[in-house]
Amino acid sequence: GSTLEIKNLHVSIEGKEILKGVNLTIKGGEFHAVMGPNGTGKSTLASAIMGHPKYEVTEGSVLLDGQDVLEMEVDERARAGLFLGMQYPSEISGVTTSDFLRSSINARREEGDEIPLMKFIKEMDNTLDYLEIDKNMAQRYLNEGFSGGEKKRNEILQLMMIKPEIAILDEIDSGLDIDALKVVSKGINKLRDENFGCLIITHYQRLLNYITPDVVHVMMQGRVVKSGGPELAQRLEAEGYDWIKEELGIED
Ligand code: ADP
Ligand code: MG
Ligand code: MG
Repeated sequence: GSTLEIKNLHVSIEGKEILKGVNLTIKGGEFHAVMGPNGTGKSTLASAIMGHPKYEVTEGSVLLDGQDVLEMEVDERARAGLFLGMQYPSEISGVTTSDFLRSSINARREEGDEIPLMKFIKEMDNTLDYLEIDKNMAQRYLNEGFSGGEKKRNEILQLMMIKPEIAILDEIDSGLDIDALKVVSKGINKLRDENFGCLIITHYQRLLNYITPDVVHVMMQGRVVKSGGPELAQRLEAEGYDWIKEELGIED
């Protein structure tokens, strides 16, 4: 498995510091959850790691197996084995889900060792079935006209087909009804093995009823302020965030 190390990460947007020194290490085989109030920098963390141009890293480092991720081009990050499921996935007109998947898979393989077409189709069909996704979706332009739930299922389809080393999933549960939530969780849980590490960003504890994280981190005001086991998420659900603010002496 791979290791993603986020060290003292500071990130600014348009000159305003949003992340103020985030430290997190995710290893293959581990599921980590990041929870926290709205506007606390959770999505900023995901976007900065994946190299969104608007997010300026002013200090700190992100290393994948010791390699400097922040020095890599965005497509190199994906090839190195990072995957980002975005809170708001964008539409890609002119590229079908099927095309996107095949080129993403092949980008991670050596030239001349592309996935055979029939093998790809079989794998895609099986995964579509597993995630209870309509087969027609594969031939539609990626995310174009997809409902919120369809976009999230599609992200899990990508995750299962691309098989990254480390995935960062931002609010993969937002806007899902309970059936879709179960399917999405089923997909993520199926990937659990020593060669896959996952950072699950979520505002609500609900998703963590279906995916049990090994570690739960609480993010507030641009920092990870507390880490614990799954019971931490349950306490947050029951009591909110105020007790952490009191415990740590954080002012609003
Ligand atoms: P969270 O995901 O925890 O809700 P975000 O990372 O989305 O928080 O946002 C953290 C802060 O950064 C907020 O104050 C938000 O308004 C600001 N922010 C996030 N993205 C942008 C952007 N693209 N442009 C300007 N401000 C942004
Ligand atoms: Mg938010
Ligand atoms: Mg967010």
